[in-house]
Amino acid sequence: MPRKILIICVDGLGPEYLELTPTPNLDRMAAAGSFIIGQSVIPSVTNVNNVSLITGAPPRVHGITTNYWLDRETGEEHYMESPDFLRCPTVLQRAQRRGMSTALLTAKQKLLRLLNAGADYSLVAESPDADMIQKVGPPEDIYSPDINHWLFRALRVVLREQDPDIAYCSTTDGMMHKYPPDAEQSHEHIHGLDAILGEIVAENPAREVYLTADHGMSAKSRGLDLEKLLGAAGIAARAIPIIKDRYVAHHQNLGGAAYVYLDDHRLLGDAVGALEAARGIESVYPRSEAAAQFELLAERIGDLFVLGDAATVFGEFATAEAEVNVRSHGSRHESAVPILAYNSPLTPTYRTNFDLVAASDRRD
Ligand SMILES: [Zn+2]
Repeated sequence: MPRKILIICVDGLGPEYLELTPTPNLDRMAAAGSFIIGQSVIPSVTNVNNVSLITGAPPRVHGITTNYWLDRETGEEHYMESPDFLRCPTVLQRAQRRGMSTALLTAKQKLLRLLNAGADYSLVAESPDADMIQKVGPPEDIYSPDINHWLFRALRVVLREQDPDIAYCSTTDGMMHKYPPDAEQSHEHIHGLDAILGEIVAENPAREVYLTADHGMSAKSRGLDLEKLLGAAGIAARAIPIIKDRYVAHHQNLGGAAYVYLDDHRLLGDAVGALEAARGIESVYPRSEAAAQFELLAERIGDLFVLGDAATVFGEFATAEAEVNVRSHGSRHESAVPILAYNSPLTPTYRTNFDLVAASDRRD
């Protein structure tokens, strides 16, 4: 019998969300399988990590290094939403080649588009077809608390009716951007996901289930405008917040990691010095160092990779430093993620979230 595999990315599920909400089904799966707190890819942002999950590879291999990319060669800026940017096949494509059936479910349309290669069946909660609406009811707005519950209910239907050999399901992190782990709304959100997952597992007792997150989420109080900060030191540069997103409702393009592109590369040392001296900046890596340390693709990152401390986000502000009050991610401080494997025939040797998915893809 072919393996039946389900991979779930719960967007923004930092470990503290699981600590503060009772999740009897996940607990049972963890006890019967394996569970660790491991690492996401850094920058701890959605697209980079989802692509690592669906390819089982680091950004150096798959090529997605950011949500938003300034191409040095052409001077053009792109949202990295097109599958054309991917440089290796997805687990769905590899499964398809082995004759397995595949399904992809996401909350957001743009993520579906990025991950869709190799999906025999795909569904997006943002705009589902009439058939699924009839079965699960109409989905709420993409920013509603129920969108992920709707997605899990749709997943349950897809598994029941189509029984794909491998299914990848990715939620959205709107609730985590909005509510801390101890909020009543977070309890309802997490508890609801756990309950539907319990039903899915009960209906698919032999299916391997791999569940992890793309990143966590922290409260941020300091905003830094890196262009203004460098400008004050006489250094002209472009700073691209890696989290930059068309969906600005939640993080307002404020994230804990940025790529900096210098107008004059000879000022690299001065720029590193100016950034390292600023309050709120935790580390600054020149391109080649960043690429080596975080397994990034050097030609698709800035001259500098800048990581904020736990309380700091980068973006555009009226002054170099500003007060903010947002929940966001992108830095090292949102890189701890739960990694759960249930019914897996493989010995767990997981460290990063995508190790888990790479394991699901192995044939031994
Ligand atoms: Zn995310």
